[in-house]
Amino acid sequence: MGGLAAAIRLARLGFSVEVFEKNSTPGGRMNRLESDGFTFDTGPSLLLMTDTYRELFSFAGRNLEDYVRLTPITSNYKVNFGDGDELRIHRTLPELIKELERIEPGVTPRFYRFLADSCLRYRLGRSEFVERDFENAKSFFGLRNLNLLLKTKATSNYYKSVSSYFETEKLRQAFSLQTMYLGLSPFEAPAVYTLLPYTELAEDGLWFPEGGMYSLIEAMTELARELGVEFHFDSEVEKVPTMKGRASGVVVGGEEFFYDAVLVNADLPYAYRKLLSGGHDSDFRTRRRGKLKYTASAFMLYLGLDVKLDHMAHHNFYLSSRYKENFEAIFRDGGLPEDPSFYAVVPSKTEPGMAPEGMDGLFVLVPVPHLGPKVDWERDGAAFKEKVYAMLEKRCGIENIREHIVFEKVRTPEDWRDEYNLEEGAAFGLGHGIFQVGYFRPPMKSRSVENLYFVGASTRPGTGVPLVTIGARLVANRIFREIG
Ligand SMILES: Cc1cc2nc3c(=O)[nH]c(=O)nc-3n(C[C@H](O)[C@H](O)[C@H](O)COP(=O)(O)OP(=O)(O)OC[C@H]3O[C@@H](n4cnc5c(N)ncnc54)[C@H](O)[C@@H]3O)c2cc1C
Repeated sequence: MGGLAAAIRLARLGFSVEVFEKNSTPGGRMNRLESDGFTFDTGPSLLLMTDTYRELFSFAGRNLEDYVRLTPITSNYKVNFGDGDELRIHRTLPELIKELERIEPGVTPRFYRFLADSCLRYRLGRSEFVERDFENAKSFFGLRNLNLLLKTKATSNYYKSVSSYFETEKLRQAFSLQTMYLGLSPFEAPAVYTLLPYTELAEDGLWFPEGGMYSLIEAMTELARELGVEFHFDSEVEKVPTMKGRASGVVVGGEEFFYDAVLVNADLPYAYRKLLSGGHDSDFRTRRRGKLKYTASAFMLYLGLDVKLDHMAHHNFYLSSRYKENFEAIFRDGGLPEDPSFYAVVPSKTEPGMAPEGMDGLFVLVPVPHLGPKVDWERDGAAFKEKVYAMLEKRCGIENIREHIVFEKVRTPEDWRDEYNLEEGAAFGLGHGIFQVGYFRPPMKSRSVENLYFVGASTRPGTGVPLVTIGARLVANRIFREIG
């Protein structure tokens, strides 16, 4: 996503751009799996902040809707709590309020205060922190930014912040589960991320591209080709060599290709470890490379089932009855949770063509720790999969699920590492604790190697498809300023 978006912008700015991708298709984590008549998006499933993609296409002189049609999701999602109660997050406020009042009578004014405060975090956070490059420390540590942080309480604890608006555990959970989109724990994440439920509920809402999320990647690839971008697939970069302190190009298949600048979209910590030789510790001024903290990972099941899942919505969250312990197991202990929360998507609810007639495809994402000493997927993977099947039967009401499987694909943190070179198998890249965001996050331009730039989830501004798209704009503009 980062590489594609940046390639489009750079080509439009007049550069001649070549893309080297290790796999045989574009998209990276945002990929597509097709089998037995089922179509699955492999990674991202929630499309938010669509203005970022519209802006990308209009920058290139095109209209996004001429390439891919985006459909608003009418009923955002279902949240299923540990006790079996359900909350439907509706797109329209009157319907939503009715649901919230059922769970927590009298909550309405506090809910609106939550929206108003999150709106401020979103608007200020986006314009003052996310959409800025922070080329030097002064631009980040100014008095103005400090005042903004204090005014919005953006650095306070997420869960504590949500708890100040909602009295019931259920609504606290319903408005904190969104940190899972970034692979974060709401008990550790800063409150600035309350902007996530806000964008879903009140800014732009949730969308889905016709044909699935991957249609956006296809649209971008088509646009990039129209602008003259040249793609090399099955071309893993082995090294980014340097000459007199400047990045000189890339080595692929033992052959060296020379360029005026190199923009790395591969996961940043992996790129420093594997593609760049020598020490570049000055690039990690605020936190040494070995001390960087990572997001969680994801255990995935992509299932083709010969039954219809009529009782499920497009997006469904199943929260653990031990909500907090589940996050602690993943983030503090680094072990597999006993009673995991999970997320399940039935894309054919919006796009019937993604499953054969009379059947449904099911995408299941279970947050798990990134790779570490506590979990051995060879040893623990099969038992964990059985646990997930048992949960799908119990929580999603899919009886005898194993008898209905037409297609199954499992993906563990090891697969995320091996397929996309994600350091520690962390599916969402570097973490977003307070010392790894803004100026503290590894920068988009290397401080130690000239003409070497980065784009993607592990550099600034952070993870998630819209943020990576914004990062592509920032870095392309910088390359244009410095080299163009
Ligand atoms: C399961 C899952 C669910 C998610 N859900 C959402 C969601 O709902 N909404 C959302 O906004 N975000 C979501 N995200 C996050 C989102 O997918 C990422 O933030 C975003 O796609 C990252 O894009 P990227 O360009 O940084 O990285 P990538 O997609 O990883 O792209 C990097 C590319 O570099 C290639 N590469 C790596 N090493 C080399 C090399 N040596 N040579 C050549 N090529 C190389 C990789 O193959 C890959 O194609 C999700 C992520 C996951 C894993």
